[in-house]
Amino acid sequence: ARKYVVKKNFVGDPKKDDFEIVEYELPPLEDRHILVKVEWISVDPYQWAYTSKYKAPYDQFSYQVGIIQASKHKNFPVGTRVVSHHGWCDYCIMNPEVQVDGINFGVLDFGVYKLPDLQGLPASLGIGAVGMPGATAYFGLLEVCKPKAGETVVVTTAAGAVGSVAGQIAKIKGCKVIGFTGSDSKVQWLKKELGFEHAFNYKTVDVGKALREAAPNGIDCYFDSVGGELSYLIMQQMNSYGRVAICGSISSYSHSLAETNNSPTLQPLIVLKQLKVEGFIVFRWMERWPEAFADLSKWIKSGQLKAGEHVTVGFENVVDAFQGMLSGANCGKAVVKV
Ligand code: NDP
Repeated sequence: ARKYVVKKNFVGDPKKDDFEIVEYELPPLEDRHILVKVEWISVDPYQWAYTSKYKAPYDQFSYQVGIIQASKHKNFPVGTRVVSHHGWCDYCIMNPEVQVDGINFGVLDFGVYKLPDLQGLPASLGIGAVGMPGATAYFGLLEVCKPKAGETVVVTTAAGAVGSVAGQIAKIKGCKVIGFTGSDSKVQWLKKELGFEHAFNYKTVDVGKALREAAPNGIDCYFDSVGGELSYLIMQQMNSYGRVAICGSISSYSHSLAETNNSPTLQPLIVLKQLKVEGFIVFRWMERWPEAFADLSKWIKSGQLKAGEHVTVGFENVVDAFQGMLSGANCGKAVVKV
């Protein structure tokens, strides 16, 4: 089997030689264990954000979709597709009853679960729109922002895995949606394919001016995955009692805290506008993920929600896919077909 090991903790952007592919012999299958052939690997921003929580060398953690090739567990027969959190590997052995110690947020259950019934949709959606990123968009938007029909919702990283789903759910709920993304082609995708009312390239547009025109009555909900300057500019245009779901802060993942200390101070405008600002981690709702997956796959089947994917082929290309996603090369969820 092969797996990716992080040889050196990332300093700034992850580099190719921070990683090493290690080949090793899989041990014989023990009682209650399963052997999984990995079909799809997920590359995600948290693999960057959490490098400092580990001391290299460590096995790169991630979600994956795979098919059971051998089983000594009666509830997980051969041929079953599972979603697991066993990292960037091509084959792996796991005990489905034991939680993986990948990341410890204190509350989570990273156990293996059977791929939800996707009713014929591609299995890769199990790590995308009908997986952790889809659940993030679903609960972050609906439980934290609680958008009402007719309200104006702004989404950042809008063409990515989480953002593209969050924006489309807001549309399904009858909101006017404004997305920010990092390229003109992704702006077009958001407007033409996903039906966002407005989309802007935050790298080239005057954000304040664009928002004053696109949202003359102000912003009610902001689904924030970026932080920093862009979020500051967006939050200035919020209405009183607006709701902000802090999903991530990708603009700061490559910085040390000291370097980000000069970021804009948000407190005055939070007070003035009486905003409700709430951070969240998707695992808060883990026992309710099946509820999200049922709605998300229903919306995809009915054509109300488009599950964009950016597919890289080949196990040896996982790092390229990871670096590409961090620099914005992906339109939709970045996945690797092993
Ligand atoms: P995406 O598919 O959105 O990929 C990351 C995107 O971030 C890139 O495509 C790029 O798009 C954008 N980006 C990179 N650097 C910057 C920057 N400096 N400023 C603005 N945008 C940038 O990834 P995900 O959908 O998986 O994750 C999106 C966010 O959601 C991340 O912040 C992530 O940490 C967070 N998240 C939070 C979870 C939670 O439980 N709270 C769970 C899962 C994800 P562009 O071209 O637009 O710049």
